[in-house]
Amino acid sequence: MLGCMQSEDKTDSSTETITAKAVRAGATFRLITSFMLVVIVAFVAVEGWRTWRDYRAAFESARDSVTNLARATAQHAEDAIRQVDVLTAALGERVEGDGLQNINVLRIHKLLVQQSKIMPQLHGLFIYGSDGQWIVTDKETIPEPANNADRDYFQYHRTHDDRNVRIGEVVRSRSTDDLIIPISRRLNNSDGSFAGVLLGTIKVSYFVDYYGDFKIDDKGALVLAMRSGTILVRRPFIASVVGKSLANSEIFKRYLPASNEGIAEVKAVIDDTERLYGYRALTTYPLVVEAGLSRESITAPWRRDLLKTGFVLVFLIAVLAVFGFIVLSQLRQRMVAERELRHAHQAMRDMALTDSLTGLGNRRRLDSALLDEIRLAKRQRSSLSLIMLDVDYFKRYNDRYGHAAGDDCLSAVGGAIQQAVKRPGDLAVRYGGEEFTVLLPNTDSAGAKQVAHDILEAIRSLNIEHAEHPLGKVTASAGITTSQPSTEEVTPATLLKSADAQLYSAKQRGRNRWCSADESAL
Ligand code: GH3
Ligand code: MG
Ligand code: MG
Repeated sequence: MLGCMQSEDKTDSSTETITAKAVRAGATFRLITSFMLVVIVAFVAVEGWRTWRDYRAAFESARDSVTNLARATAQHAEDAIRQVDVLTAALGERVEGDGLQNINVLRIHKLLVQQSKIMPQLHGLFIYGSDGQWIVTDKETIPEPANNADRDYFQYHRTHDDRNVRIGEVVRSRSTDDLIIPISRRLNNSDGSFAGVLLGTIKVSYFVDYYGDFKIDDKGALVLAMRSGTILVRRPFIASVVGKSLANSEIFKRYLPASNEGIAEVKAVIDDTERLYGYRALTTYPLVVEAGLSRESITAPWRRDLLKTGFVLVFLIAVLAVFGFIVLSQLRQRMVAERELRHAHQAMRDMALTDSLTGLGNRRRLDSALLDEIRLAKRQRSSLSLIMLDVDYFKRYNDRYGHAAGDDCLSAVGGAIQQAVKRPGDLAVRYGGEEFTVLLPNTDSAGAKQVAHDILEAIRSLNIEHAEHPLGKVTASAGITTSQPSTEEVTPATLLKSADAQLYSAKQRGRNRWCSADESAL
């Protein structure tokens, strides 16, 4: 008995251990999943932030680059033109002083040759008379027909008496066939009338070479244009682009009217390329420079980096996912195994407390329940009843019908007892052999007698033939005991003993009846 009790305790504690393990495994599972998710989210967040920062940095540095480029090209253009401006101013002074009709052509020619050698940007220096005829130039020969009266700048100066230097659109040189930018000023007679035009021409190739020296990618662009929008020079250089107008471009339409210098991210009208432009209007001349880097070239290193980082990130996440998957599937297997073990333990526990023949609880079950119910009744100050039942003349039944039939009979009796016990808290067990016990919590003597009566009646109603019984059918006897654990000393043993004594009485009094300490009945 004691041994059984102990083994039952062991079953209980090991089931609890398994349950605790399962709970822990579930928590570990959730912890690992959350940890992996947190790590992945952290990876992605950190890399995402870094990538965004790099993207911003790429544009920041591109803004600096285009600003510097615009500044450098503006300075360069300004210097190149100012030199010609200053030179033509001095020459004009001298020619006007002498009077255009009286100048010494040979001396002036030598002077022009000398000056044009000093300035690398200079293509040529020319003096035209009031009718457009070439009077003197730095060139050794004067081409035929040598009249520039048709030129735009000539007509301008003839009709405008301002003395400022004028920068003209690009033309093709009549002397060398080069593309040139004309820098011209009006020459006056002493009376202020139009005497002719002094022209210095700058080679477009001078700018093309200078712009070509900058280290910018193929999609980058450098532009020198008139304030009106007409292109003078552009890198990449295509002759057909020279003379085209940028007047309708965003920079000329929107940005320049607002500010003389700045940065704009726009699509170029010339080649439809998205660029980040630094633009700048020259301070002394009506010219504008633009320096643009394509969005594609700005983001190219960043994109390469993104690809590498993305690859590493995906690889790391994949490794983490595979690792996590392995750990989680092992954990899941363990959880499944533990669940199965738990179920097996539960089944074993049920089996250990169940009587296999009748399906009722067994004596071990009663022992456990008795202790609990005595404690409960004591606390609740309630009555606790116990009925002990014994099949009458069962040895004879076995002898007459055989052991197998005896087993069937016991099974039927067990069923009848279970049927007769109505309340959920009542417990019917097979105590051993042909003896059954019914524990009735919170039941007084009258209630217990009623239950005993019903059980005996149910067994009789089975009408199992028993030829060796005086009544010809299977019956049982019952001993009832009712106690008040709160007022008397009650143990499982005293209860069982008392019920057994009443059962003995019932047998003595002729069987097929119940006996209680206070009365007995059929
Ligand atoms: P009484 O009316 O005084 O109780 O007489 P009885 O013959 O029923 O009492 P006894 O204790 O002498 O005999 C009980 C018999 O029950 C003995 C045994 O053969 C039989 N028995 C006990 N357990 C089982 C069982 O599991 N299966 C079967 N078929 N018979 C059992
Ligand atoms: Mg017996
Ligand atoms: Mg018996």
